[in-house]
Amino acid sequence: MSTATQSAPSAPAAAGVPQFDAVVIGAGVAGLYQTYRLREAGFSVQAYEAGSAVGGTWYWNRYPGARFDSEGEIYQYWFSKSMYANWKPSERFPAQPETEAWLNHVADQHDLRKHYRFSTKVTSAIYNEAGKFWTVTTDQGETVTARFFVSCAGMLSAPLENRFPGQDTFKGRIFHTARWPREEIDFAGKRVGVVGTGATGIQVIQTLAPKVGQITVFQRTPQYIIPMRNPKLDAADWQKQSDRFDYLRARVQTTFSGFEYDFENGAWHDKTPEERRAVYEHYWAYGSLALWLAAYAEVFFDETANDELSEFVREKMRARLNNDPYLCDKLIPKKSDYGFGTHRVPLESGYLETFLRPNVKLVDCRESAIERVVPNGVQMKNGTVHEVDILILATGFDAGTGALTRIDIRGRGGRSLKDDWGKDIRTAMGLGKHGYPNLFTTAAPLAPSAALCNMTTCLQQQVDWIADCLIALREKGVQEIEPTLEFEDAWVQHHDEIANMTLLTKTDSWYMGSNIEGKPRRLLSYCGGVGVYRGKCDEVAAKGYEGFAMS
Ligand code: NAP
Repeated sequence: MSTATQSAPSAPAAAGVPQFDAVVIGAGVAGLYQTYRLREAGFSVQAYEAGSAVGGTWYWNRYPGARFDSEGEIYQYWFSKSMYANWKPSERFPAQPETEAWLNHVADQHDLRKHYRFSTKVTSAIYNEAGKFWTVTTDQGETVTARFFVSCAGMLSAPLENRFPGQDTFKGRIFHTARWPREEIDFAGKRVGVVGTGATGIQVIQTLAPKVGQITVFQRTPQYIIPMRNPKLDAADWQKQSDRFDYLRARVQTTFSGFEYDFENGAWHDKTPEERRAVYEHYWAYGSLALWLAAYAEVFFDETANDELSEFVREKMRARLNNDPYLCDKLIPKKSDYGFGTHRVPLESGYLETFLRPNVKLVDCRESAIERVVPNGVQMKNGTVHEVDILILATGFDAGTGALTRIDIRGRGGRSLKDDWGKDIRTAMGLGKHGYPNLFTTAAPLAPSAALCNMTTCLQQQVDWIADCLIALREKGVQEIEPTLEFEDAWVQHHDEIANMTLLTKTDSWYMGSNIEGKPRRLLSYCGGVGVYRGKCDEVAAKGYEGFAMS
């Protein structure tokens, strides 16, 4: 997509007066909508995007098989009924090219590109306490000032690329899935290694296995899975979804996870095992995340409930693997590993059957860990070298914090966000942080996010809250806003109380920051529910931004 229409470098500010009302980072789902909302409200906005075009997650994650696990009818913007009606995705769970094209269409339709500088990374943002504005610097040598600094940089956007020593010695090509090149890669006949079996690795493996000479899967932790049911949609199918626009728009704001479905099967303990089994079977056949996010809420915090559903999924997986003892042992999580749904459950399409193919080799990194990358492949701690021509790292992200700690962000008294979050990951409702006035964040820690929420639902709610807040501040003539320490403390305590009731905090994953050595441990995503969170945010706004100091 051409970036020719992107914004030109801006004029210098008059002394003491910031050039822009807001700087926005990111041209993904949140950034585009934030820019739109602020522009429509009459604010001047300078937006930056590190990629060369719009799309965010859908620009960067163009790896083979990339698609979302949210149904197309709810992975949506809700601000334009006609735009919704015109999208017409071709599948229930559309693939990356369709979503990227859709976001490009949104940017064009609302003339958003002109606010952006593309291929431009924000490198620092320094708060000017006397002037009450941010000074933002980019890797293109530009410096601008803005009253407000709004991050829409994403929750899963800081990839863990340099994972292993020796990567620079590899003779073939290495790709991280979130930095996938735009050109076509020729996989025919190649020996391909894939490290990682999270939601990303699973999509890559099941897509590439039939197309390559050999695929070597480096697995450390096995995954519970849910089979994706992904029928093709035609215009009439989409018309039916369009007719539900008003209902769906209202519905997703209130459910636990921002999806259409919710926990509505009664209390787990009130049901017989047969009744519960019927619920599990129903959702298994339905083929979406509903088995996880709509069967029984008790699965999240009651070990007995969790054990039962975990065993149900194991049984289904064993059958899919033809009860092969070796594959079942390696690919199916055991009770001692972790319980179903205590970290992200991927949807898959034929992933398990992939391992029945003769050209697929499974390497168990728990038996012997990856030691290093060598010129011809991957060397394990026990000395074995697995030779590959192409190495794909589906090794995940520095989630929640990484997008912002990779920027030098300085708040009051020069305090550094990287240092602060390096000690303890705290925010005020995920929307701001004490010590960092006029900073607003989306998809940040301690708000509902990718872990347990349909992203478009959560992001739009956070963007709307921020836009409405800036409008209210303008009406009041307020130049500076900052969450108080007491408010932040109370939010962190509330977040932890709910998080610690769940089984999520007992499982290692990016949800807890445990995929990064030394990262402070805390559940990154708020898990009190999307509807509950919205209510709490609305209450703060209705009380004149109670908990935020203003001047
Ligand atoms: P991830 O869930 O963090 O998975 C990373 C994988 O790399 C894990 O299997 C991890 O193993 C493995 N790994 C990391 N370091 C390793 C090492 N040294 N040796 C061996 N294995 C290693 O990352 P992701 O798959 O990119 O997914 C991140 C999130 O993105 C998902 O949870 C989801 O929220 C989102 N996503 C969504 C979709 C979708 O909607 N369809 C698709 C892709 C991603 P361990 O588990 O043992 O650490």
